[in-house]
Amino acid sequence: MKIVISDEMEKEVVEKIKQLGNVIYLPANLKEALSSADVLIVRSKTKVTAELLAQAPNLKIVARAGVGLDNIDTKACEERGIRVINTPGASANAVAELTIGHIISAMRFIAKAHHQMKNKIWDKKNLTGQELEGKTLGIIGYGRIGSLVGKKASALGMRVIAYNPPPRREDGIARFVELEELLQESDVITIHVPSTPETKGMINEKTIEKMKKGVFIINTARGDVIDEEALYKACKSGKIAAAALDVYEKEPYTGKLLELDNVFFTPHLGAATKEAQGRIGEELIKLLKESL
Ligand code: NAD
Repeated sequence: MKIVISDEMEKEVVEKIKQLGNVIYLPANLKEALSSADVLIVRSKTKVTAELLAQAPNLKIVARAGVGLDNIDTKACEERGIRVINTPGASANAVAELTIGHIISAMRFIAKAHHQMKNKIWDKKNLTGQELEGKTLGIIGYGRIGSLVGKKASALGMRVIAYNPPPRREDGIARFVELEELLQESDVITIHVPSTPETKGMINEKTIEKMKKGVFIINTARGDVIDEEALYKACKSGKIAAAALDVYEKEPYTGKLLELDNVFFTPHLGAATKEAQGRIGEELIKLLKESL
């Protein structure tokens, strides 16, 4: 059994996968390594396109260590009879906690104050923040991660509203509303939808226009859900008080949002906790054992 791992993974997980077969970790020439591979394991970096699959005549499984399958041409896999597996639940709590961290940091200027102090600036008078307690949090996409954010935000005293067409998780925490109402009512908006043709550019000039002035926006889902140009304009004008981003249309992100001091960044760290990586590894190995 030849297993190719083409994206970086925790050392312990790679060691465990080695028990399942002959592992080639981070091959210098991916196409060549795939020519005799049975399994390809990726995170979000490798783009599993039909062209790449054509280099892998024996491939039986594409395993995504994580949730989103937007870097995998699942249709092409299906046509070739290649099974696609992923580990959907393993990183949900890690992403939800990062989201809460971003909300608190943006509303209390934690990251901004840190940077100022590193530059010997003590600007207390301009760093008066806002409290979460009593504010309305609008959650777009109330699935595994969105609903965990809802639960945690509710425990912090926020009113939780959510937009998620049925079927959806009725948990007694979120009040489900239409997107229009969510945009108008929310003090903080957080995005937890998958990247699909319907969600692409969902936050754009028109939808931002409907939001409250001074809204906070958090995106730990996928970069292409937000039109970055529209976000830039709205953050610059003050329509949006602050945005916090973990994901970008193009990663690594080097774009012009970095010029603004009311946009806060993490480099796709949602699933980057010891616990989540451990769970992803365990789930992946269990799934591979079942499938091989
Ligand atoms: P999920 O499938 O459990 O939840 C997504 C929810 O969005 C579902 O309830 C679905 O019904 C809803 N939805 C789909 N289309 C919608 C639309 N047009 N409008 C409103 N709701 C819609 O997924 P999840 O595990 O909660 O993951 C959510 C997002 O987080 C995904 O984009 C995933 O790629 C991303 N993610 C990011 C990281 C990170 O490192 N930042 C890690 C894991 C997942």
